[in-house]
Amino acid sequence: MQVTLPPDTGTQRTALVSAADGRRQAPQSADSCAEGRTVGNMNRKSAMIGLVFTALAVTASDTEARRTGNVRREVIDMVVIHSTGGPTCDARTGRPIWVRAGTLEESIRQIEAHPKLGIHYMIDRDGALRASVPEDQVAHHVFRLSGRSIAIELINDGDGLDPFPDAQLTSLVKLLRDIKQRRGITRDGIRRHSELDHALLPCDRTQRRKVDPGAAFPHELILDRVFQPH
Ligand SMILES: [Zn+2]
Repeated sequence: MQVTLPPDTGTQRTALVSAADGRRQAPQSADSCAEGRTVGNMNRKSAMIGLVFTALAVTASDTEARRTGNVRREVIDMVVIHSTGGPTCDARTGRPIWVRAGTLEESIRQIEAHPKLGIHYMIDRDGALRASVPEDQVAHHVFRLSGRSIAIELINDGDGLDPFPDAQLTSLVKLLRDIKQRRGITRDGIRRHSELDHALLPCDRTQRRKVDPGAAFPHELILDRVFQPH
């Protein structure tokens, strides 16, 4: 992998990357969301071949290993909301591209096959919820703050245009209420990835590298729903 990781992503999972892992076309720096799934930019045929080979090459124990992270040393006081789509740098052309949302199945397979990155939850457009790394283990999804935060990825292009369906948002509210009650998370502790990483794209210094979940995500309304009496 040609991935350069931020300082907080140095020591984690030891999973091997399959030779057929489509994400060997990884960009210069990494995080979850768009950069964890650059296979979405490959042409459809090669992407599918990559996924098929990855599925064949990954044993059950490998898959299990990729769903684990380091034990937490910090108290969890933050939840970070991501979208699977977003800007990144194409490793082949060196130009900025926009990774589309992808499906839940391909997105979770890709993130779990990544040697460093991870997430705790992913929510599909229809509200289906999938868990990945356990909450009490660190998943590397945001620069410097992964040790104290839980990662939720929403299947969405993250471009401010792709709408978040009601079913997806209702599932998110339910999950956030549950985490809030178990972990004592405050309203200020539920953050968008775009609020926490203001770095620029290495291949285009006029663009932010993290803008997810994007302007179509109704953040304040979600917080109202999570924190209203119920
Ligand atoms: Zn993100």
